[in-house]
Amino acid sequence: MGILYEASLGAQPTQQFKRGAFGAGRNRSGARPNPGHGGIAPLEEEFMSQKALWRLVAGFRRFREKYFEVENSTYSRLSNGQSPKTLIIGCSDSRVDPAIITSSGPGELFVVRNVANLVPPFETGGGHHGVSAAIEFAVVNLKVENIIVLGHRQCGGIRALVSGLHGESDSFVDRWVAIARPAHFRALAAHPEADMESLCMHCEREAIKISLENLRTFPFVRKAEQERGMQVIGAYFDIESGHLLGLNDATGVFETLDV
Ligand SMILES: [Zn+2]
Repeated sequence: MGILYEASLGAQPTQQFKRGAFGAGRNRSGARPNPGHGGIAPLEEEFMSQKALWRLVAGFRRFREKYFEVENSTYSRLSNGQSPKTLIIGCSDSRVDPAIITSSGPGELFVVRNVANLVPPFETGGGHHGVSAAIEFAVVNLKVENIIVLGHRQCGGIRALVSGLHGESDSFVDRWVAIARPAHFRALAAHPEADMESLCMHCEREAIKISLENLRTFPFVRKAEQERGMQVIGAYFDIESGHLLGLNDATGVFETLDV
């Protein structure tokens, strides 16, 4: 709260913030955190931590100038509500921000991001269904026109699936990416001679198809497709070639969209 509040007032960095809870300064109890090597955090570590945070604050100031401080600003309209047309289910990977790679502005995309851009199957057990809740809100309340599952090359989550323990460990990542286990089996069956890199690439694409299949296990998704023509789309951002591919539902092949 404090960091954004100060930024919104255009305040200069204060000593309190410089040594605040975000960096290697004092924690809430006032005690010095234990950095694990001798009891004193290295100055370099502290500086780099603040530098990263201050880049964010400076970025927020530019954002505010662009979207708040002009006449009829974007947020003067958006403060009354949102009506995005598209839900994107993307990966948490820092290189594949859906708004950045589609040049979308505030209010245009409703976004869910998680490791490996996965959709779990519909189920009503007692788990914490964050992804399912976001899908429900987008489809039932916002009535989005499209759902895009956006995968990408060099996905660390899929690499964990392909090289990992398939949910047999205590790792949250391993258990989460096990949702896409059928994608791994399909990729292996279709490309038995593939090396690790190409197996990951095939699995990244097959995992998108698994998420699309899982999406359609949600009754309100099927209903929206049938009754109001909502589209469910698979897409793949190849961060090596810089191309965006779309899944051809009829052929099951990903084709370049950005030519
Ligand atoms: Zn990823």
